[in-house]
Amino acid sequence: MEIDDLSPTTYCPELHEGVSARSVGWLGGTVRMPAHPALHVLEQLRHYLRGNFHDDGDLGSQVCQICGDARGHGEFWIEWDGVRYVLPALIIHYCEAHGYQPPSEFLNALSLRWRTDHRCEWWLMDTLPDLNGARLTLLPGGNAEVFDCDGKTHQFHSEQEARFFLREDEFRLWTSYEASDFADAPFRIEDVHPPSGSSNADLLPQMLVRYS
Ligand SMILES: [Zn+2]
Repeated sequence: MEIDDLSPTTYCPELHEGVSARSVGWLGGTVRMPAHPALHVLEQLRHYLRGNFHDDGDLGSQVCQICGDARGHGEFWIEWDGVRYVLPALIIHYCEAHGYQPPSEFLNALSLRWRTDHRCEWWLMDTLPDLNGARLTLLPGGNAEVFDCDGKTHQFHSEQEARFFLREDEFRLWTSYEASDFADAPFRIEDVHPPSGSSNADLLPQMLVRYS
């Protein structure tokens, strides 16, 4: 079923009674202005597909009308600022295989929702002047993960376990460092900042900077 992006029409209206719903990614046989999908958008969509999936039951599966190969079943929801965005499970295929680009209003909502759901802290290894950072992410539900300078993501069942792992590896919370810790470094504390970027691929090159 083809639905215009951001239309209040939904594939399965009985699931959204009394809700301000907007459909996103219900394509027909074409993609308008295909573009290269951003990796962090795909990571975020996969996360919410796993967590917010709704089976739409008897309506059955949808087949990609562009290639005819891929099948999807059901929909998932992302809520932000009083709006429920309703996406087909097939949207990930549309982005990856056919360069579908969701509308910018939705991408903004996705990014804000993601930042609200995922509290991040940066930690720095006690090996100055080398800067070796690790990101602790506190996930909804109490789980946590640590992303390190080798590009690995370590999963933990609790925030405490993750913090213990970081301390064992001689990491300290980035904000716990003081100017005196940098006395022997070739830069001042105010010159160094935690890595920034919207995907793990953006962050990785900034996570280990050697000065020794
Ligand atoms: Zn396809």
